[in-house]
Order: sequence, then structure tokens, then C-alpha cells
Amino acid sequence: QAKVQGRNIYRFFTEAMGQAAQRHLNLARRLREALDHGGFALHYQPQIDIASGRIAGCEALLRWNDPEEGLVPPGRFIAFAEESGLIVQIGEWALRTACRQARQWADAGLPPLHVSVNLSARQLWQADLPERIGAILEATGLPPQSLELELTESMIMGHEPQAVEQLGLLRRMGLRLAIDDFGTGYSSLSYLKNLPIEVLKIDQSFVRNIPQDRNDREIVAGIIALARKLNLAVTAEGVETPAQLAFLAEQGCDSYQGYLFSRPLPAAEFEKLLAR
Ligand code: C2E
Ligand code: MG
Ligand code: MG
Ligand code: MG
Repeated sequence: QAKVQGRNIYRFFTEAMGQAAQRHLNLARRLREALDHGGFALHYQPQIDIASGRIAGCEALLRWNDPEEGLVPPGRFIAFAEESGLIVQIGEWALRTACRQARQWADAGLPPLHVSVNLSARQLWQADLPERIGAILEATGLPPQSLELELTESMIMGHEPQAVEQLGLLRRMGLRLAIDDFGTGYSSLSYLKNLPIEVLKIDQSFVRNIPQDRNDREIVAGIIALARKLNLAVTAEGVETPAQLAFLAEQGCDSYQGYLFSRPLPAAEFEKLLAR
């Protein structure tokens, strides 16, 4: 009896594991196919300079147009792409596409803007990342000053000496570096003074409940004050209401992105917004 039960349990687990492995293989295959056959797209979300009200830049956000499932948001596949290593190729595709697009907009005579691209941990720690980015800038003709890379605190924590070196190389090439989702990671403020960062992006979880929530108000005001003291620019993410924007403006926040101004848009629609 015990033996039979044991065998059933064993079969249950191997089948469950088999199914998970199968799902992963299937996902990996579909992501590779998307890479090879134009299944990825970037959507662009404007970043607004609060003082002038102008579009100062945009963030490029990855979208996967899966033949089976339709438009899949990055939250559903980035973690898997990171684990499986596919993120390196996908991320490089995103960098190249964003740089080419920004160069096209500049060539079309649209107002100058920078483009921000999210970098994954695996990309950051590639020894030849600076060369790869240099090659993309050269091929697309985008000036390095027009490219901003977004990194998160958790990518850096625990590897600070290496980060100082790698980010230093990127900074000396002329790129701008931003800390994304600031305040949600495992914040050690000491790294801020050692790294060549230009921008802090306040995570949307702190923005969501301002100005009603007293704690969030203090946190946001504190991050903006810290950024000013350290001579960093500060961008707020996830701004959805005029009241949120008013509070950020009053605190001296430099720029924002969020549904209040626009959702991330396909390139052609973003271009119309720029041309207005
Ligand atoms: P993120 O870099 O923090 O991007 C901001 C996210 O907030 C985006 O979600 C954006 O669509 C969303 N958002 C913008 N404004 C608002 C708003 O007003 N309200 C709300 N509720 N949300 C807003 P998205 O596009 O789903 O991207 C999710 C995450 O996926 C990104 O977070 C980033 O970490 C990652 N990601 C996106 N593209 C790439 C990429 O090319 N490479 C890598 N490694 N990661 C990427
Ligand atoms: Mg980002
Ligand atoms: Mg963010
Ligand atoms: Mg994020």
C-alpha cells in the first residue's frame, strides 16, 4: 500500500515537473521566435519637464506581440527571460531599436529628446557591455548624450566596486544613468555618492497615494530633497492625477511620466504627440 502510494506521488511530481519544464521550453521557444521574426515592439512613454511642460524624453518599454496571446506586457515574461538568459539578446534588440528610433526622430526635425532604456542585471554585468553599446551608438548615429540607461538598486547592491567601474565606463562614454524604482530596493544611500548617476526615478508605489497619504508625502518630499542635495535630477513615475503633479511641482521635482500625460505609445503615435 505504502509502496503504491509512494509510486503515485512520485509519478505526480515527475508529471508536474515535466509540465513546468515543458512550459518553460515552450516559452523559451516562443521568445526566440519573437526575436527572430519581429515579435517584439517598443512603446514610448513621454517624460515631461515640469517647469516647461515640454516632452524632454521618453522611456522605451518592451511589448511582446505573441501570435497565441496577443500583446503581452513585460511583467509576464521579463523574469523568465532574465532566468533563461534570453534577456541579453532581447535587451540588446531593445537598445538598438530605441537608439535607431530616437535618431530617426531627430533626423525628421522633431524636438530633441533623450530615450531611456531599461537594462537587466545580466546585461549590466556583461564585460563587453560598453563596447556593445558603443557599437549600437555608432551604427545608429545617436549621440551618447541622448541615451539614458535605467538600472535598479538591487542590480547594484552587493557588487558596488564592480558597479563603480562598469558605470564609470558608461558614464565616460557620455551616457546618462538613472536609478529606476528608487526607494523600493534594498537602499543603501552610500552607493549614491560613489556611483556616476544623474537621475533618480521615484517609484510609482510612493506616488500613487500622494497627496492624501502622509507617509508617502514625506517619502516623496525626502527623495526630492535628497536628489537636489546630491545634484541629481529626479523623475516621478506613475503620475495619474493633477493633484499628484501639483504636489511634485511644489516639492521641486524635475520631470514626470504617467497616464496623466500619456500611456506608453507605439512609435507612430508617440511621433504625433511630439509633432504637436
Ligand atoms: P519600469 O521601468 O519601472 O516602467 C514603468 C512601468 O509603469 C511601465 O510598465 C509603464 O507602462 C507603467 N506606467 C507608466 N505610467 C503609469 C501610470 O501612470 N500608472 C501606472 N499604474 N503605471 C504606469 P510596463 O511597460 O508594464 O513595464 C514593466 C516593467 O518591465 C518596467 O518597469 C521594467 O522594469 C520592465 N521592462 C520594460 N521594458 C524593458 C526592457 O526593454 N528591458 C528590461 N530589462 N526590462 C524592461
Ligand atoms: Mg524603467
Ligand atoms: Mg520604474
Ligand atoms: Mg520596474
